[in-house]
Amino acid sequence: MKNAMIQKTASVGALSVSEAELEKVNEYSLEQLKAEDVYLFKIAVCSNAQNTDRDNEPLLRKAVEGLAERLKGRTILFDHNASAKNQVARIYDTELIGSDAQTAAGEPLITMAARCYMVKTESNADLIAEIKAGIKKEVSVGFSTSGRRCSICGKQFYTCAHHKGRTYDGKICRAQIEDCIDAYEVSFVAVPCQVDAGTTKSADVEQTAEKEDELLAKARIRINEYFFKEAETA
Ligand SMILES: [Zn+2]
Repeated sequence: MKNAMIQKTASVGALSVSEAELEKVNEYSLEQLKAEDVYLFKIAVCSNAQNTDRDNEPLLRKAVEGLAERLKGRTILFDHNASAKNQVARIYDTELIGSDAQTAAGEPLITMAARCYMVKTESNADLIAEIKAGIKKEVSVGFSTSGRRCSICGKQFYTCAHHKGRTYDGKICRAQIEDCIDAYEVSFVAVPCQVDAGTTKSADVEQTAEKEDELLAKARIRINEYFFKEAETA
């Protein structure tokens, strides 16, 4: 399982084309692009929240930060198909959005967003229209890690007796992704692998998760505000 590709789900918002954004885009484009040539959007790629992940493999802060660094310049694909014709968009910048909320792993919650550009062409006009309409909303990111840590005992995962997804003394066992050693791409996908808030949990399952849900809900509102602010002007 070492270095396996990991896929996480995210959401997408529109972005307005300013001179400053265009300057950053042109660092990655082969020819100098003008404002009318490009469509910009941003993706809330991932966070270090511990209880939003369906496969119980949440990221730790260091992994989110590593991804932010390594995703710059990467392409946006469709369904992880890496053929050239699928490479329709590129990430020209990333940012980390901080928060006062604390995750179940005891870290401050951070969300990583990627700023992306697409050259407007006849062939991707439908796709841009779909993103604008909010249809192409689910994206996932492929990356690799050097290790996963057991959330119960702190040992390297698969070297201890704990099982992912099982509950020990009221705490769910998770394989926490410690870092990001490489990032491949971000991909629009049909079926997301990350769970939204409000997932059904058994009654005895960890108070910390509930507390985290509350804090996360607040953080999400702020992140949504941040997204919609620019989306409205785009
Ligand atoms: Zn363990």
